[in-house]
Amino acid sequence: MGSGSSSEAPKETQSAPATARATPKQPKRNRQFEEVQIAGQGGSRPRAPARSTGASPNPHQSSSTSKTPRGTDPGASGSTTDRSKPQNTPRQGAAANGRKKDDDIVFETFYHRSGKEFQCIYQSGMRFYLDDWGSKEWQPFPKRWYNEGLLVTNTILKDENAENNARNEQAAGASGQGQSSRSQGRGQGQSGGGGGGDDREGFLMHPTKGRIPTYIFYKKHNVHMYFDRDTGSWVRMPVGWELHHNMVKSLVDQVDEAVPTWGDRHDILALLRACNYDPDECISIYLHLERDEWMKGPKTSKENKVLMEKEVRILELEKRVRHLEIQLQKEMDARADAERNLEIQMTKFSELEAESKETEAHLSAVTGGRPPTARPFSRMVKPGQKGAKGVVAGAAVKGGGKQVQSGEVVNPDDVLDLNANAKELRKAHTRVKMDMERFVGDMKHMLEKIGPAFKQMKQSEKGTKNEIEEVRALYRKEALQRRLLYNQLQELRGNIRVFCRVRKDDRAENCLKFPSDQDVIATSQGQKKMFNFDRVFDPSSTQEAVFEDTKPIITSCADGYNVCLLAYGQTGSGKTFTMMGPDSNPGINIRAMKELFQVCSERKETMSFTLTVSLVEIYNETIQDLLTNDAKTLELRTAGNKVQIPGLTEHEIKNVDDVKRIMAMGDKNRSVASTKMNSTSSRSHLVLMLAVEGHDKVTSAITRGTLVLCDLAGSERISKTEAEGQRLVEAAAINKSLSALGQVFSALRSSQLHVPYRNSKLTQILQPSLGGDAKACLFVNVSPDNYNFSETVSTLTFGSNARQVALGQAKQNISKGK
Ligand code: ADP
Ligand code: MG
Repeated sequence: MGSGSSSEAPKETQSAPATARATPKQPKRNRQFEEVQIAGQGGSRPRAPARSTGASPNPHQSSSTSKTPRGTDPGASGSTTDRSKPQNTPRQGAAANGRKKDDDIVFETFYHRSGKEFQCIYQSGMRFYLDDWGSKEWQPFPKRWYNEGLLVTNTILKDENAENNARNEQAAGASGQGQSSRSQGRGQGQSGGGGGGDDREGFLMHPTKGRIPTYIFYKKHNVHMYFDRDTGSWVRMPVGWELHHNMVKSLVDQVDEAVPTWGDRHDILALLRACNYDPDECISIYLHLERDEWMKGPKTSKENKVLMEKEVRILELEKRVRHLEIQLQKEMDARADAERNLEIQMTKFSELEAESKETEAHLSAVTGGRPPTARPFSRMVKPGQKGAKGVVAGAAVKGGGKQVQSGEVVNPDDVLDLNANAKELRKAHTRVKMDMERFVGDMKHMLEKIGPAFKQMKQSEKGTKNEIEEVRALYRKEALQRRLLYNQLQELRGNIRVFCRVRKDDRAENCLKFPSDQDVIATSQGQKKMFNFDRVFDPSSTQEAVFEDTKPIITSCADGYNVCLLAYGQTGSGKTFTMMGPDSNPGINIRAMKELFQVCSERKETMSFTLTVSLVEIYNETIQDLLTNDAKTLELRTAGNKVQIPGLTEHEIKNVDDVKRIMAMGDKNRSVASTKMNSTSSRSHLVLMLAVEGHDKVTSAITRGTLVLCDLAGSERISKTEAEGQRLVEAAAINKSLSALGQVFSALRSSQLHVPYRNSKLTQILQPSLGGDAKACLFVNVSPDNYNFSETVSTLTFGSNARQVALGQAKQNISKGK
């Protein structure tokens, strides 16, 4: 987009100031959006909705986008930069003098006599029409048209909020310049913004640096709106619509092209919105977050599957190591056996050798030194026989053999036998020797073979151990990253999410319409109001569908976050149905606990969890313990962000049956208490608190999260109930606590340093779960019945106000229809 338009306006590009060229990133940015600062959209002062691509007087912006012939009209869209030098143009000087009046935007419709109809806008003495037949941009209103048709004023939008924001902005001195001017901001604020009483100012005491001044800066945010002709007002664009907007489409394309693995265009757009429509920031956040599946939303079961697979792999590897260890042990035993055997055989062999030597020596002594090759003795000759040599004792016996007793006659047969024996012995000796040699050879061979195998085994054992360690470390890292990313994602999406649920009511005349799953329009007797929520559940929505959207928030409770779910609405609008529901079709309470048990059991390999539950009722600003029979009234103690309720009964729960049992007990006690006090359940707040304590088996860290589920009292106003006596006290208490809740939301919304939690028992109890790191989910329950229209609108307004806490963005401009 950037390169295309700059080639269309080469001259302007060249005349752009050096700063524009010095920042190479700039041209890629979507500066059309930087211009789309519409009246009342999050803190800039009212200005013309410069949908045109080239009307900006900001030289940075005109350098690449000025292609419409609007150069004659530099004051048409007063951008933030103008404000820093208003004296430069006479028009702006004049506008500044009469600013309050001139800056008001007047929306008009021009009926041309040709039958065509144009949306017009009038601001600061200028009138533009939206050329939705041609260029699709805001164009200067042609003078000749004044005689060619009729101009009808729709409405005047006076956005007090925008003015407040502008004032804040001035005070902060940030002038909408973002971080670049932060360092100077404070000084400007003091000179231009009207001095003291600014609760954004503060200081820190540093142990070595001393007192360091601090300031909470206001940061502007772009909000994409569309002009709703029915209501004549600018309304926040739903994500689904925005994806059809050409420029947004091209931004999403840009991101999609840079990170093709992402794939989910809705998700891309959601992050783009959070990044102020800056694709670079969006891409870098995505790359920072790395793992695409997290950006596609929490998919716990899928993620768990991957983790389970890893676990299985670890188990397999461990099994393999054990197997190898056993094998190794066996081999080592065999080796030791073989060595022992070898030693025995060697001893035997040397014994045999010694014996054989001795025998040989003996033999040679006996044979009288005859060489083994000597002929055997001839047969025995009798003494005196002729020719008989006769072996007579006394004959010289040579050699070292035994001395033969003189006169003793040696029988030659004996000698022959001995000789034969000696031969046999020698043979046997040779055989044994050969056997021994063969055995030793085999042994050597075996040892040679075992050696490398042994080494290899040792190596593989080491390798497998390393591998297991690696997988373990990866697993730990991934689990941690998973939690971090999930929480980051939740933070990006806003820590307070607001859902609207419309109860089923077939009999009544319906006053609600649902143009998308994020919008609801309330219409009655010519009045038409549109509200935008994180999600709108129409009457046909099931309990499962409603729970599905809250499930991710609940998961973070097991990570040590404080999570709070509230149901707000008039009596009969379905709060109890949404939170508790009937046994056959339970609401969020039971499902949340089930989910938590599920999450805990999925993590049981690495974590052990303890879940304790308590249940209280807040009636007329008193807190009643519902898990004890003696109707105890409890006091609250707050210290910082912590709230303690001394004496509160807590029950440990291990499964969903425990929860049901405890809820039934609470319900019984509640009805007893309400009979005593003559109240009805709709006149009190029911608060279920679940503490989840997790013990990490690997790191020994302890996480403590709480899940607070709150079924609020009916929000209907006093006048309608025409209360008297006790009812009046009740109504006043309800009013007090619900309006305190509204004040808390509003303080959080405008980032006030003081959030008035202490104004009611309800907000005091909820303090740890609202604001800070906590994640809250507010259900606004409404009835579609026409009769309840005004209550419905007031509930929806409460919800959409609370929603801005999450987004920190624009206030919705809702005005009465024609
Ligand atoms: P609340 O708690 O706001 O006073 P309840 O939850 O008691 O309102 O709802 C009033 C009646 O409407 C109950 O009978 C409830 O069963 C029914 N109801 C509320 N919401 C629904 C729904 N979404 N579908 C069906 N019935 C509903
Ligand atoms: Mg109820």
